Amino acid sequence: MKAGRQFLIVVFAAVGIGFLLACNSIASAPDISSTSTAEPSATIQSTLTAVCKSGNCTDACIAKLNSVMEASDQPLSPPKGAAPQNLKTNPVILTVYQVQGDQLGSPNFIPNVPADLVSYQKATDVQQKVWEYFIAIIPRDQRKEITQFIISSDGRGGLLASVVQFSNNPKDWALNVDIVDTTKPRNLSFTLIHEFGHLLTLNDSQIALDTNLMAHSDDPQIVAQAAASCPQYLASDGCSQPDSYINQFFAKFWPRIYNEWIEVNAAKDESNYIGLLTHFYRSHPTQFISPYAATSPEEDIAESWAYFVLMKKPADDSIAHQKVLFFYDFPEFVQLREEIVNGICHYAALDQ
Ligand SMILES: [Zn+2]
Repeated sequence: MKAGRQFLIVVFAAVGIGFLLACNSIASAPDISSTSTAEPSATIQSTLTAVCKSGNCTDACIAKLNSVMEASDQPLSPPKGAAPQNLKTNPVILTVYQVQGDQLGSPNFIPNVPADLVSYQKATDVQQKVWEYFIAIIPRDQRKEITQFIISSDGRGGLLASVVQFSNNPKDWALNVDIVDTTKPRNLSFTLIHEFGHLLTLNDSQIALDTNLMAHSDDPQIVAQAAASCPQYLASDGCSQPDSYINQFFAKFWPRIYNEWIEVNAAKDESNYIGLLTHFYRSHPTQFISPYAATSPEEDIAESWAYFVLMKKPADDSIAHQKVLFFYDFPEFVQLREEIVNGICHYAALDQ
């Protein structure tokens, strides 16, 4: 999803799949293991240790992820009380933190927020918990672009989180989390990993940033000009580098469906767009790992990345699973996956 905002130009989001039938607002969170029975987290560490003695700790953790995340539910729960329903508006920014390494600065409370969001705005302990969880699972050297942590909300569902690139300093990004949607660790984990996938695939080593395109992404003439001068995949914020992950991903999976998607994406009217996108997704039932992945190549690679991290290695060869297997071709991603998955399990084991 894209949105315009002063200084904050490009937004890549995880959004509830409201536009597809039978999908709820957190439909993109995968059912990670077939046995999702909750069990006390006190048993998880010993179970993992026992399995790890003779095998792969990451696989052992993956097999336990559902129960690990269920067990760590409570510490991440937002304030009690009725959550505001989806406001059907742009997210309201509640609190902004500057980031220094692992630390958050003092909270900057944005004035005049809606009354039903005030308790969420002031719940700095919960906001801190979400940040601590993020830094526990994403290695420090992989998140140095993040210079702001933003707490926002559009009510329950809708936008779950996003990463935001600053137009005045494109090396800097913000992580934006809808605090109302952080109640379920499994969904929060998936959302944070999805957002991190955008950072991995759209940072300035991957994309030659085009500020003119960023500022006029709705102008067909400027998009056409940018496309004409980009031999690789043209991302929302510029031309991808030839050896970038998203260009490789695009070249492998998107050429046959790209023109069809461009027509879908050109729809101006929101309901028309949703109808066309739903049709596009359903017309290619083996192509996408989730409905939201059909939104764009950027969202497709972020969704596939998140499934790569959180699901067992796929055994079959559908195109959707080929997209997950794509990441296994990169040793750096295999290592990152191990670090993230083990970060989740260690966080749960420590937080008892
Ligand atoms: Zn996204």
